[in-house]
Amino acid sequence: MDLTTLERLPMWVGGRPHSPTTTRYGEVTNPATGEVIRHVPYGNAADVDAAVQSAAAAFPGWAASPPLRRARVLMRFRDLLDRHRKELARIVTQEHGKTLADAEGSVVRGMEVVEFATGIPHLLKGEHNDSVGTDVDSWSMRMPLGVCAGITPFNFPAMVPMWMFPVAIACGNTFVLKPSERVPTLSLRLAELLQEAGLPDGVFNVAHGDKEAVDALLAHPTVRAVSFVGSTPIARYIYETSARHGKRVQALGGAKNHAIVMPDADLDFATEAIIGAGYGSAGERCMAISGIIAVGDVADALAAKLAERARRVTTGPGDGTDVEMGPVITCAARDRITGLIDRGVAEGASLLVDGRRPTIPGHADGFFVGPTLFDRVTPSMTIYREEVFGPVLAMLRVPSLEDAIGLINANPYANGAALFTRSGHAARRFQREVEVGMAGINVPIPVPMAFYSFGGWRNSLFGDLNVHGVDGVRFYTRLKTVTSRWPDDGSAAPGFHMPLMG
Ligand code: NAD
Repeated sequence: MDLTTLERLPMWVGGRPHSPTTTRYGEVTNPATGEVIRHVPYGNAADVDAAVQSAAAAFPGWAASPPLRRARVLMRFRDLLDRHRKELARIVTQEHGKTLADAEGSVVRGMEVVEFATGIPHLLKGEHNDSVGTDVDSWSMRMPLGVCAGITPFNFPAMVPMWMFPVAIACGNTFVLKPSERVPTLSLRLAELLQEAGLPDGVFNVAHGDKEAVDALLAHPTVRAVSFVGSTPIARYIYETSARHGKRVQALGGAKNHAIVMPDADLDFATEAIIGAGYGSAGERCMAISGIIAVGDVADALAAKLAERARRVTTGPGDGTDVEMGPVITCAARDRITGLIDRGVAEGASLLVDGRRPTIPGHADGFFVGPTLFDRVTPSMTIYREEVFGPVLAMLRVPSLEDAIGLINANPYANGAALFTRSGHAARRFQREVEVGMAGINVPIPVPMAFYSFGGWRNSLFGDLNVHGVDGVRFYTRLKTVTSRWPDDGSAAPGFHMPLMG
């Protein structure tokens, strides 16, 4: 089915498109043009229940299938993702706005989690001990949970859902995805590709919607685990509500990622890295750099280089030629970001590059904000305290590495942080002392590869386990430890006391 020509999207339940009962629909826009391109259903409790029941019905058969068979479905899915990655990227760009190259990169990052999950027979291996007591053996097994739910944000329509469901279903669970209502189409295409790969009907379902659908998932007694990625206030709500309903939960929240630049850093390298990490995907990445901390006397030279490069960033539609930065997601996001820039000016930060109201030929109605750079920002300013989630870099000046690390450690968000330096001593000190989940040394966006786990600290993650990698396998399985004995000597006797030795 060519999903992009549909006026109203279906859900995906039981291995086929599903017409929901809801009468509430929301608009999906192309942010580069401002046009409404289709409508997405806002599912109600009955619609969510249909998806959960489908996943529950598929669970026993899928959980009983050998992990190697599950892995082979994922191997075929991986090949289909690879074959269709340009087509998938076009859907991402049409609804999100990021450039085609960046969208394709995000599909590949998701594909890498699928590649990781194909190792599931190895990853599910338990521990085994021969003779934990006389004629007694013991071993552990990682068992699937049942129906798992994923609730995802607008900024990575392909990658973030693929942080979750490949690992969940490899472990033998079934899945209901509630994608962002701003970028709903890609999830349906993933469902089609999973089916083509041989995934049994009902193992993967898509329930579209907004808060009503999310609340129905959180309260549903059959849903065993909830994975969430989005903003911090909603992450906290998801964590608390899921826990109240007795569910396992991991809820990843917002971010404010810093790059420290030391006086000994390669300034040309650091400038290019920070520009890409700050303005790539219009700053709408949870690992985007938003705060630059210039240490000592590097500040003036760094500010000049950043400003010169920021002015040369080409902004335009994500499918345009040579475009480096696309629009932001909605008209409301554009107005919010522009308002935050106004506040920065009003509060006394020095605006070196002003991206408010850029002119994009042929795209007067698109939701564009140009690259914006502030210098002499202080920690009390709104532009520093709030998550901007747009193409705005804010530079702070501090005297020492200690002060720079102190600033990062005092921030309520703690996803990622990067250090630019030529000093091994400074790098080692940073890697040990910085209190964030993901640290980069001369790497501006230190996103862990699929075989590591992704997650932040403090307000950037509520829960105990990160996504994908070994933490993902732990999150989507529960541990069973078996102790066994096979007596055949007729030596049965009641055991009234705890065993003493052996
Ligand atoms: P969001 O929190 O508004 O929405 C995320 C999901 O929650 C969506 O599916 C949405 O439908 C649902 N939702 C929204 N409001 C809700 C409510 N009141 N009750 C229940 N559910 C609700 O986030 P967004 O705007 O889509 O995404 C941007 C945010 O996501 C940013 O804060 C960004 O930092 C964060 N993010 C974090 C990571 C990470 O790894 N930590 C990754 C990507 C994005």
